[in-house]
Amino acid sequence: MNRNIFSELSHTLNNPNQLVLDFSDYNDYLRDATEQTGEPSALVFAETEREVQVIIAFCREHHIPIVPRGAGTGLSGGCVPVKGGLVLSTERMNKLEIYPEQKYAVCGPGVITKDLKDTAEQLGLTYPPDPASYDKCTLGGNIAECAGGLRCRKYGVTKDYVLGLRAVTADGRLLQTGIYNHNRGFALGDILIGSEGTLAIVTEITVSLIDTPPIGTTILAGFSSAGDAARTVSDITGAGIIPTIMEFIDADAVACSIEYEHSEGLQKGMAVLLFETSGTNTEYQTEQIQRYCHKNTCIMLQIEHDTAKADRLWQVRRNVSKAIKAMAKEKISEDVAVPNSKIAALVEFVAEMNRTSPLRINSFGHAGDGNIHVSFLSMTGTEEEKRLIKEGIVSLLEKTVALGGTLTGEHGIGTAKRDYLHLEFDPPTLDIMQRIKDVFDPAGILNPDKIFPSHQ
Ligand SMILES: Cc1cc2nc3c(=O)[nH]c(=O)nc-3n(C[C@H](O)[C@H](O)[C@H](O)COP(=O)(O)OP(=O)(O)OC[C@H]3O[C@@H](n4cnc5c(N)ncnc54)[C@H](O)[C@@H]3O)c2cc1C
Repeated sequence: MNRNIFSELSHTLNNPNQLVLDFSDYNDYLRDATEQTGEPSALVFAETEREVQVIIAFCREHHIPIVPRGAGTGLSGGCVPVKGGLVLSTERMNKLEIYPEQKYAVCGPGVITKDLKDTAEQLGLTYPPDPASYDKCTLGGNIAECAGGLRCRKYGVTKDYVLGLRAVTADGRLLQTGIYNHNRGFALGDILIGSEGTLAIVTEITVSLIDTPPIGTTILAGFSSAGDAARTVSDITGAGIIPTIMEFIDADAVACSIEYEHSEGLQKGMAVLLFETSGTNTEYQTEQIQRYCHKNTCIMLQIEHDTAKADRLWQVRRNVSKAIKAMAKEKISEDVAVPNSKIAALVEFVAEMNRTSPLRINSFGHAGDGNIHVSFLSMTGTEEEKRLIKEGIVSLLEKTVALGGTLTGEHGIGTAKRDYLHLEFDPPTLDIMQRIKDVFDPAGILNPDKIFPSHQ
């Protein structure tokens, strides 16, 4: 592509530094948190909704693909410019206004999730969705992926807090949903949430806030098998107990954490559950959790009542992603999710794959909502091991669907899962999704090659 055409665009922007054509200082913008990269022709930092409209009009006129981007922490290739084109970053659109009386916040898509949480916290309010990447990811990216997190079984995911959206469609029109439209008409916001930047660019988000809930105890329980830990989760949920957090880490992932940095009190070979109980019926929840941990023969149990002291128990969860990544030459993670009663079957399947494969394969995740991250690690990075990773992923996805689960609990389809969609969605459903895409983006310029299988 002749990059000179972008000079026409630069005249319409506020500052010259909004347009980047030389990527030597902007390498991060070629990728997300997966291993994938692309080669865009240009990067533009939009600062206003009007600029988003102008950029889209320009791209439409010149048939240039547009790849929306937040902070680039995505784990499914969603913001990677795999087909080149223009990367449209909304990270500078970071207006943040909180209305404490009405308990809502009006945010630009570039607001970092942690900034919204911290600002609300100062007013005694909370924005509950808490992806583990919350100190880096943006609300625009959270909307596009419908991000979940540690407390989502109890408090819900991103979509449960969206009151309204403003977004620019691929033909440059401004779309207003939810409270921006008096909550009338079709629930178009629900279609945009989780659409991974393929239908429109989100330019403003209004989210609801809740009163900051009190925090209960923190409990760390160790088990000699992943199955025992997972059955404890099913028992607790089956009994109607919903702790604020219920995280699972299998023995191999715990071993990675111990190898990476010493995690207090943990032994190799131990699978771990971490709980935070609700601050309102703490005593009852703590007792019941202990009871179900013992029923499933837990081999270690630590309870911390003081939230400041509880921090050390969370170390293993905090470092587990980095620890797993540090162990391998090549790592691919999948974020499958299964119904509560099937978690044990899933994590036992992963443990068995680990036992019988030359790869290292482990699992951890938000067990409260059955959302398990499975990592496939190659220590050598050889082509043969890369092939085994691909094979292992297909087995995992097939098993997940057979257990009544989904290919992606929270990270989205992007490019990572698009070729497996047929495992989960039947042809009529996929067809309707493709038709909705065509209505929003008839020219196919918005985040092309994401979500829909490449052969379609
Ligand atoms: C260590 C780690 C932990 C993580 N933990 C979690 C977790 O607990 N839960 C979870 O759900 N995810 C998690 N993630 C994944 C990731 O952080 C989320 O998907 C997050 O929502 C991505 O936000 P982002 O701003 O980085 O978006 P990006 O990666 O920049 O983009 C993600 C998608 O959003 C689209 N997009 C971005 N901005 C806009 C916009 N303004 N309009 C339209 N589309 C847009 C992009 O095109 C892309 O498809 C984790 C990632 C890492 C690296």
